[in-house]
Amino acid sequence: MSGRTGRIVTGAEISDSSSVEADFVVVGSGAGGSTAAAVLSAAGARVVVVEEGGHYTRRDFNMQESWAYPALYQEHGNRATDDLSILILQGRSVGGGTTVNWTSSFRTPERTLALWAARHGVRDLDAATLAPHFAEVERRLDVGAGDPNDVNNNNRKLHDGAAKLGWQPELIHRSVKGCARLGYCGMGCPLDAKRTARTTFLADAIADGADLYTDCRAKLVETDRGRARAVVAEVLDRATDRPRARLVFYARRGVVLAGGAINTPALLLRSKAGTDSGQVGVRTFLHPTVPIVAFYDQPIEAFYGPPQSVSVHHFADRGDRVGYFFETPPVHPMLAALAFPGFGDTHRKVMERLAYAQATIALLIDGHHDDDGGTIDVNGEGRIKIRYPLHASLREAAVAAITDMARLQLAAGAREVMTLHETPLLIRGESDLAGIAEAPFGPNRHTMFSAHQMGGAAMGEDPARSVVDSRGRHHQLENLWIADGSIFPTGLGVNPQISVYAHAHLFATELARRG
Ligand SMILES: Cc1cc2nc3c(=O)[nH]c(=O)nc-3n(C[C@H](O)[C@H](O)[C@H](O)COP(=O)(O)OP(=O)(O)OC[C@H]3O[C@@H](n4cnc5c(N)ncnc54)[C@H](O)[C@@H]3O)c2cc1C
Ligand code: SF4
Repeated sequence: MSGRTGRIVTGAEISDSSSVEADFVVVGSGAGGSTAAAVLSAAGARVVVVEEGGHYTRRDFNMQESWAYPALYQEHGNRATDDLSILILQGRSVGGGTTVNWTSSFRTPERTLALWAARHGVRDLDAATLAPHFAEVERRLDVGAGDPNDVNNNNRKLHDGAAKLGWQPELIHRSVKGCARLGYCGMGCPLDAKRTARTTFLADAIADGADLYTDCRAKLVETDRGRARAVVAEVLDRATDRPRARLVFYARRGVVLAGGAINTPALLLRSKAGTDSGQVGVRTFLHPTVPIVAFYDQPIEAFYGPPQSVSVHHFADRGDRVGYFFETPPVHPMLAALAFPGFGDTHRKVMERLAYAQATIALLIDGHHDDDGGTIDVNGEGRIKIRYPLHASLREAAVAAITDMARLQLAAGAREVMTLHETPLLIRGESDLAGIAEAPFGPNRHTMFSAHQMGGAAMGEDPARSVVDSRGRHHQLENLWIADGSIFPTGLGVNPQISVYAHAHLFATELARRG
């Protein structure tokens, strides 16, 4: 603790190019960056956090999709893979993804930790090592036991269908306190009932002296003889998102990168820093997500209530085939309009039934089999390119998952299920299910999205196969750490926020102990 309270400096307050010095420069204020900043500040280090997004609070969160996507999401909510086949929802404001996430809270599955140890050279990172860090994160985020009163109609149908088929639905633990069940988590919680990085670890870091610079995009990491010396940032004009000044953050002790999967590898690639192994940007995982929509005779109103309160992990382990799990998304008009097929009158007719629509999603657990995920590249102007070839084993899983979700919703009593193929299939009974396997499935032939970005700067002990060690320290740059979702060697198999917070907590605790 430094004895001083830190400051929040917004881009609008920075008029000239200048420089700042600190012990640690943390890039990104999401789950990983805020946690690292809190732990390092509590240990007495002078910390600055550099965040490219704006600083918004509950007074700004107006429950409007048209405001929220441009203000709170990467690329105004339009980030996508290079071929436009997978829409990538990723946060971009103070608090990062946690400002807009749906509060579901899971620890990293032991099966996934065991896979990393066995196949990816990760060492000394088991459930027992992580347990105190999970416990501290869950305490700070008020993660509580699953609450049956959180279950809205959308989640009720997932629960009931799964229970009928013996697929063991579970109530989701959520990171909330005093949730009024409004259902607008994805647009920023207007009550601060959602525990986010901004309202917890970042607030702690600032109370312990950390300074937060918003609207500052880290452009380059400057290195010198195997050390990271500074982070060069562009100060962005909030209205136009264009750079209007330059700020250099000098790091006396170290740099912690926490811009999230995709942006952290991109920053290293843009900087040409610590990329010799060829591992930066490869093995990027998305939990590629396929939705279906089921129509009921009674209103579902899936736009109200906590977006996610039930999950089904019955198909997470399919042996030598790619596994998947089921959850629900919120069904607000803009997101639904993007996901629903058709144009003009056809599209309007589907949208007219929005209040009666139930949506289920299957998240494919990528990276556990023979699929290698995607790659991140930056072009000459520093723009990010995301490629994600859809491996045959993921296609098989997607088709199986769509069939299982349709079966589940029929069991729950849906009048009809609509797939989101380019030409949607309407499923009214068991006999229609076979059609799913015959429908063309592939990039841009079916709606797919991702709210879980992982990998691209994997941890492991072999410098030829990983970017950082099992405590987040870069193999080539001795004072550079990575503490965000990019360190995961595979998709997790559960929603990632708690894993990101807990790994960052572990890494920063050990870094602070080094003195
Ligand atoms: C709509 C949505 C719903 C989700 N729901 C859930 C859920 O219910 N449960 C769950 O577990 N997970 C959920 N997630 C995912 C979860 O929020 C993320 O996995 C988590 O926030 C990732 O943490 P991170 O630290 O890796 O990155 P982030 O939290 O994304 O933080 C990275 C931050 O770095 C900033 N940044 C990036 N590049 C730069 C740069 N060059 N310079 C300066 N700043 C930079 C970004 O603006 C961002 O604020 C959801 C995500 C979304 C988008
Ligand atoms: S559902 Fe709860 S946590 Fe989500 S926005 Fe509403 S009040 Fe906030």
